[in-house]
Amino acid sequence: MSFVEHLIIGGGISGCAMARQLAKYQRDFKLIEAQASLGGRIQSTEQGLDLGPTWYWPHQHSVKALLSELQLDTFDQYTQGDYVYQQAHNTEISRGRDAQTMLSHRVVGGMGAIINALSKTIPADNIVLNCPVTHITKQDELWQVILSNGDTLICKHLWLAMPPRKVAQLLNEAVLSTTLISHLQDQQTWMSAQAKFVAEYETPFWRDAGLSGQGFSQVGPMVEINDASGVDRENTNEGVHDNASPAALFGFIGVPALNRKTIDKQQIINACIAQLGKLFGEAALSPISTHYIDWANNEYISTNTDINEPSQHAHFDQARFKAELNRLNLGLIGSEFSQTEPGYIAGALDHVNDQAVKIKIQSS
Ligand SMILES: Cc1cc2nc3c(=O)[nH]c(=O)nc-3n(C[C@H](O)[C@H](O)[C@H](O)COP(=O)(O)OP(=O)(O)OC[C@H]3O[C@@H](n4cnc5c(N)ncnc54)[C@H](O)[C@@H]3O)c2cc1C
Repeated sequence: MSFVEHLIIGGGISGCAMARQLAKYQRDFKLIEAQASLGGRIQSTEQGLDLGPTWYWPHQHSVKALLSELQLDTFDQYTQGDYVYQQAHNTEISRGRDAQTMLSHRVVGGMGAIINALSKTIPADNIVLNCPVTHITKQDELWQVILSNGDTLICKHLWLAMPPRKVAQLLNEAVLSTTLISHLQDQQTWMSAQAKFVAEYETPFWRDAGLSGQGFSQVGPMVEINDASGVDRENTNEGVHDNASPAALFGFIGVPALNRKTIDKQQIINACIAQLGKLFGEAALSPISTHYIDWANNEYISTNTDINEPSQHAHFDQARFKAELNRLNLGLIGSEFSQTEPGYIAGALDHVNDQAVKIKIQSS
């Protein structure tokens, strides 16, 4: 049994950003993550292809500020050229151009580059990976946190950097009010029922054909497809970049999570490749690698309730539960708890920044 002043549970961007703040203010803390690596919903391949989030948007200042502090380069999503569209099995593929395409930004090396850079700001000894928290209780002023390896950690301040429904599974009515527990259970984990397919190619051949890589389909299995290529060497927001950059397309799978459970993974992959061939031509039938990730299968992120509902954003009412959380010394900091952009990376960062102000005040 050991004591730390601050304990963070969950090593996604919320937990990593909070750990960075605690390290900055030289607080005594540990970060516990259930899975083998940090990142949570943020996951990129070694080549920088995103299997979780891909974009941030121009108005998201907290993301811009973090990227600048971490000295990470960015570039704009490729949208030049026509999109392709398939309405039904027996209809021709049509082309069109969307002059109103919303500007979105990407990170050189993928969103995973943010997690890599953040992790370098956290002392390695403060991070425990591969160690799910199984039980949490509170006695007097202190929290007791039991880990799957049998260890117990005692802490004063507990930061839960995970989706609300995961919090509700860990904390019961002995600790939280029934109204708070039921409010937590109402908050959906955004995109946690999604699956994503990425196909990597030798070249972005669709660009040569005047296509943007964007595709929409009523047929599936993918419903929306985008160019997922790495940085265009002459087109970063910070200037010329030398990294080898993959050429790729990615798509969101439209088959509902419950139905996906009954389909063999290879069958979905084959159907995605065939769909890309139909939409973008024969060259799309020969990817050099493919990646398929079903977030609904991740027991630390998605719940049965999430996969049975239509996609929506959380609306956690911080003001209503502020007194209860303060009294417990409990911080709920997953992105779904944000009051600005719940479910988004920007929301996660806005919320952690707000909470970190309190730590700054305590330490001054
Ligand atoms: C396919 C997809 C596409 C997306 N696209 C975008 C996008 O383009 N732009 C955008 O802004 N956002 C996007 N998002 C949302 C974005 O990924 C999330 O808002 C953000 O990553 C959430 O970070 P988080 O740290 O709050 O939570 P998470 O990333 O969910 O992290 C929670 C962590 O807690 C850990 N954990 C859970 N239970 C335990 C336990 N018992 N013990 C220890 N650890 C535990 C988990 O393993 C996980 O690492 C997307 C998400 C997905 C899945």
